[in-house]
Amino acid sequence: MRKRDLEILLSRIPPHPRPRVELEQYATPAHLAARMLWVAAYTYRDLPAGVVLDLGAGTGRLGLGAAVVGSEYVVLVDVDRGALRVALEASRELGVDARVEAVCGDATRVALARRADCALQNPPFGVHRRGADVAFLEAALSLSRRVYSVHKAETVSYVLRRCREAGAEAEPLFEDVVRLPPTMPHHYKREHRVRVVVIRAAPR
Ligand code: SAH
Repeated sequence: MRKRDLEILLSRIPPHPRPRVELEQYATPAHLAARMLWVAAYTYRDLPAGVVLDLGAGTGRLGLGAAVVGSEYVVLVDVDRGALRVALEASRELGVDARVEAVCGDATRVALARRADCALQNPPFGVHRRGADVAFLEAALSLSRRVYSVHKAETVSYVLRRCREAGAEAEPLFEDVVRLPPTMPHHYKREHRVRVVVIRAAPR
């Protein structure tokens, strides 16, 4: 499969049906999701993997993408059941539903019997609930042997430091720009552009 074909497949996965400001819901742009998956698969060979975790999966672009590139078992976790329903519907359309599970609950409170092989996440950036980004990151580090995570560019040095403090090797991979919906109901701008960085972390 070409990267462009993956991007087109992912772009057909719908965004959140009823986006909620307080959950910082927005669908990862297909080009960003495809690039993340591509680097994980072809630069680092972390994908396809046995067990993949997508924390704050929303409608599942990252996790479903991991299934499309051949991962054996993908677990999507989100508090929004409606978004997960959209993800499961998309998993059927992509023909990967036999390898995808959706769990509705708090991604920072997940327990697994054994570590996942790879976690992919585009978590809330902690704009609405301070610290949500780091809480997601620490959950992923404790649950998975490899972690790919999207963060606001200005927080990246802090995020990398937190990874190292948690005993993980961590590095920035690439930068991108996403368009976020307004973060407050009274914002007059329809959306704003935010620089993000994708990081890779490997807990020891
Ligand atoms: N990764 C998704 C969506 C990112 S938006 C994609 O690729 O499209 C952030 C997501 O985190 C939203 O779907 C939101 O519902 C979810 N979320 C926010 N707080 C959460 C929590 N505590 N536990 C699980 N999911 C949460």
